Amino acid sequence: MAENLDELYTKMADCTSCKMRKGCSQVVLGAGQRIKPALLIVGEAPGQQEDEAGEPFIGAAGQALRAVLRCTGILTRQNTLITNVLKCRPPKNKFPKDDCAEICMTKWFWEELRLAQPKRMLLLGSVPLEYVAGLEGITACRGQWYNIRGVRALATFHPSFILRKDNEGIMSFRDLWVKDIKEIAAEIAAEIKNDEGKSPKPEQGNTEEVAELN
Ligand code: URA
Repeated sequence: MAENLDELYTKMADCTSCKMRKGCSQVVLGAGQRIKPALLIVGEAPGQQEDEAGEPFIGAAGQALRAVLRCTGILTRQNTLITNVLKCRPPKNKFPKDDCAEICMTKWFWEELRLAQPKRMLLLGSVPLEYVAGLEGITACRGQWYNIRGVRALATFHPSFILRKDNEGIMSFRDLWVKDIKEIAAEIAAEIKNDEGKSPKPEQGNTEEVAELN
């Protein structure tokens, strides 16, 4: 068993457990903060750009997502970890109906979650909703919180869905999506503040020493 995410990702990079690996360029590992991220963001599967670059969410959907994360003022590349249910790009970007995703979850995702120990988790769309939370129906579940192996997780829309709706001139889904991401950021901010309140204050002597050094 891996002891940390670096070890897990080294093994994951060599995975050939299902037929997906033959059709893609590389296994796309999670990207970002590997130790206790504020937020673990879970998508569906890498697309062509992610497959080529070896990094999740770098295409148009990823840029839309990053922009909203940044606008919270809390969530950055440095304190989030972003990953997918399926670590390899499926042929023609069609999510597989066979047992490949289940294999990926069992072999990698649950270990990724255990080792990362995120404060919160964000499920992007119906695929992580099904595979991580075991639920169907993103329209009914979005905006709902779930307890996933002890981690508070919020379900919301996938950014590709938001971009499609924007193009159709329907902005109301984007409003809900931004609301969800701001909500999870606010919870994280409150928890960080609470954690800071719990950490011991430096003793008077130490403070003076630091002041002197400065
Ligand atoms: N969509 C996803 O779900 N994941 C990616 O990595 C890119 C696009």
